[in-house]
Amino acid sequence: MKLLFIILDGVGDRPSLELDGKTPLEYANTPNLDVLAKQGLTGIMDVISPGVTPGSDTAHLALFGVDPFKYYTGRGPFEAAGVGLQIKEGDVAFRVNFATLENGIITDRRAGRIKERTYDLVESLKGMEFEGVEVIVADGTEHRAATILRGEGLSDKVKGNDPKIEGKEPYAFKALDNSPEGQKTVRVLNAFTNKAHDILQQSEINKEREEKGLVPANYLLIRGAGKVPKLPNFEKEYGLKTVCVAGGGLYKGVARMLGMDIIEKHELTGGVDTNLQIKFETAYEMLKNYSFVFTHVKGTDNLGHDGDAKGKAEFIEKIDKELSRFLPENYKDKLVIAVCGDHSTPCSFKDHSADPVPVMITSSDCLKDEVQSFGERACYKGGLGRILGKNLMGILLNELRLVEKFGA
Ligand code: ZN
Ligand code: ZN
Repeated sequence: MKLLFIILDGVGDRPSLELDGKTPLEYANTPNLDVLAKQGLTGIMDVISPGVTPGSDTAHLALFGVDPFKYYTGRGPFEAAGVGLQIKEGDVAFRVNFATLENGIITDRRAGRIKERTYDLVESLKGMEFEGVEVIVADGTEHRAATILRGEGLSDKVKGNDPKIEGKEPYAFKALDNSPEGQKTVRVLNAFTNKAHDILQQSEINKEREEKGLVPANYLLIRGAGKVPKLPNFEKEYGLKTVCVAGGGLYKGVARMLGMDIIEKHELTGGVDTNLQIKFETAYEMLKNYSFVFTHVKGTDNLGHDGDAKGKAEFIEKIDKELSRFLPENYKDKLVIAVCGDHSTPCSFKDHSADPVPVMITSSDCLKDEVQSFGERACYKGGLGRILGKNLMGILLNELRLVEKFGA
């Protein structure tokens, strides 16, 4: 028995006047998701716990049965693992944005969402060392990159330099305690950021950008410090051969740190422009060799952050089109399908909320409930009731007949 686990990032939403009082998921025409709902079991889920707004990283840990309160040290390590850096326990990892600094002010936090040649920019920053600390850099999608500090006497209790809004000076790196480790980490970050700024200012790539009227990627915003934690190995924990089909670095990072195999395809961008057909074709292929296929779609969350309810509904329809190949009438082998969000990203919030997310599980012989469509309010009436994210893996393992008896 195989499991296809589809996470639609930030899919949960609230009613919108623009959508006749429906949520994007309710408004979207989704015949395939609705078939899965009709033939399956639905419910709602507090991914961390009621009233807690999840980040995507903590949410994914919880959904994979890993306690984020115990293992989560910050986003940096997952971003670094996601862009393929070989991180080691004890490294301090950060997420990085290429940004634009003009006259001491951050005028664009994403350097115009730079897409081209960030690989070469990152190459120019390689090989730096300060106070015996190695600075390792790798580029991610668009303006994103990641960096790790490797060496003795480092701390992850440091605040980054990202002012979070444009039109401000970058923040000064700050140690959050009085430890010598914190002070040293801040010194290394300062030295690295300043030297990187000098190099990027001189870069031919940025000169060419400016000639074309594009903003230069001449500054690094560094945040999300985290010491690399040792996570349980998902495959060993559950006895499932696992693979991740995703575009976004963070999701590949979570998967890699849990020991899953990762599919790298440039068509999977981790954005609204991702190639959904290739994504779900790949997932389909992977089911031949893997027993657990984690498929992540990020665009739903992006459109929630943009406050674009219509766009979110349209994007959900595009996802739905790709799901027909998994319907029980088309898919010949035994398959359990789970679909859920990792959190809600209501268009009216333009950010994550603590609203529970819809969840559904379909298998050949699961106990069906009366729910006829996949939507927030339909799922409120489902047979799973209201569950916690950390319980989902157990429920899925039960569908796979892999749960051992507790007691005699
Ligand atoms: Zn998310
Ligand atoms: Zn988000």
